[in-house]
Amino acid sequence: MTRSLTTVESRLRKQKPDSGQIPFGRTFTDHMFVMDYEESKGWHEPRIVPYEPLTLDPAAMIFHYGQTVFEGLKAYRTDDGRVLLFRPEKNFERLNLSSERLSIPPIDEEEVMDYLKKLIDLERDWVPEFEGTSLYIRPFIIATEPSLAVAPSKMYKFMIILSPVGPYFSGGIRPVTINVEEEFTRAVKGGTGMAKTAGNYSSGYQAQEKASKEGNADVLWLDGVEKRYIEEVGSMNIFFKIDGEIVTPALSGSILRGITRTSILELLKEWGWTVNERRISIEELYQYYEEGKLEEAFGAGTAAVISPVGEFNWLGKKMVVNNHEIGPVAQKLYDTVTGIQRGRKEDDYGWTVEI
Ligand code: PMP
Repeated sequence: MTRSLTTVESRLRKQKPDSGQIPFGRTFTDHMFVMDYEESKGWHEPRIVPYEPLTLDPAAMIFHYGQTVFEGLKAYRTDDGRVLLFRPEKNFERLNLSSERLSIPPIDEEEVMDYLKKLIDLERDWVPEFEGTSLYIRPFIIATEPSLAVAPSKMYKFMIILSPVGPYFSGGIRPVTINVEEEFTRAVKGGTGMAKTAGNYSSGYQAQEKASKEGNADVLWLDGVEKRYIEEVGSMNIFFKIDGEIVTPALSGSILRGITRTSILELLKEWGWTVNERRISIEELYQYYEEGKLEEAFGAGTAAVISPVGEFNWLGKKMVVNNHEIGPVAQKLYDTVTGIQRGRKEDDYGWTVEI
């Protein structure tokens, strides 16, 4: 069901970036999507309006107890000028899972998909065409009721904003160095790790700062209870190739269900790999490394698609993976997923949605 969507077109048209060198998340398009929630009306008043600042009551609950969820996906420009989304229905499905965890009322996934398509269609010219660039899409929900009560808000705003972004790494992918985090924890079972919610990210900053001071690109997160089992790498799911098989941590309740993760698991199974979704500890990984069986490691997520790990630093010990080079599995996955996203490879799976 689609409620009647109103569109107020912006009179101002901002300058679009004129090269592929676009800093992440700082430029926004001319329009945004907004829809409100009140208990008596449900989600209502869907509208596309000029991009502008919000006015919120200082007591709006989002500012105090962090009741908010978000998503991240991209629109890609193909060589022949079409605009494609990659499995966007999975993002709205996950948004509702996150909302459930944060006691936020669900959105109608099909209805919102329709609004997203209309917004992208209006902002079509903002999807950049330089190699590796895309239009980053940020749907999010915030609690807007003015109240300091520690209880779920009765009012919300759902919004979608759009930002043209450059390639994650210029010139494709390159292996990075990762610090295995022993002190801080991203998530625990029963917590909010499987939800895409603000607090999971701000609580990671200290560990990221520490890692980058020591020359690492990001953090490998271990489970919050035993500090042994591998969970995620930065804001990506982690994969290993160990002795000819693929291993990735099973979704334990504290790991985000990545859409790239789901997609590459499907690809790897189709290509005939043995894929093990299971618990894997850092000690076990180190043992495989010592035995020469740790053949590849890579993160998977919307931002970089595939980000190979060239080295792990763990309690003063180094694990150098594949001689700091991109492994064949990482490269093939990267080429296949980006090929489908950019319309250069046949989309045999029906993953792309053309706008
Ligand atoms: N884990 C975390 C914590 C993330 O924030 C993301 C990015 N959404 C991912 C994994 C990868 O998910 P996706 O493949 O859907 O981008």
